[in-house]
Amino acid sequence: MTNCEHCGYRLLDDTAVCPRCAGEMTFTVETLAPRSQPSKGLKILKWVLISMVVAVLAAVAVVVWIFNSLGPMPSFG
Ligand SMILES: [Zn+2]
Repeated sequence: MTNCEHCGYRLLDDTAVCPRCAGEMTFTVETLAPRSQPSKGLKILKWVLISMVVAVLAAVAVVVWIFNSLGPMPSFG
């Protein structure tokens, strides 16, 4: 049995917000029972993808800069 830590209202076990005073509970079952942590591989993969995108953009910028520094392109025809 859980009571609201703000107003003492009797709450259901899976209630995260008090229906009477709308105060958030800090001692819910979810907080006490540790969930399975999200794998860090996904986070690393996200940063790898971001790094690749940045690298590709940098490469494109360098290529564009080189072509611009070479002057006007020779016309074909
Ligand atoms: Zn309450």
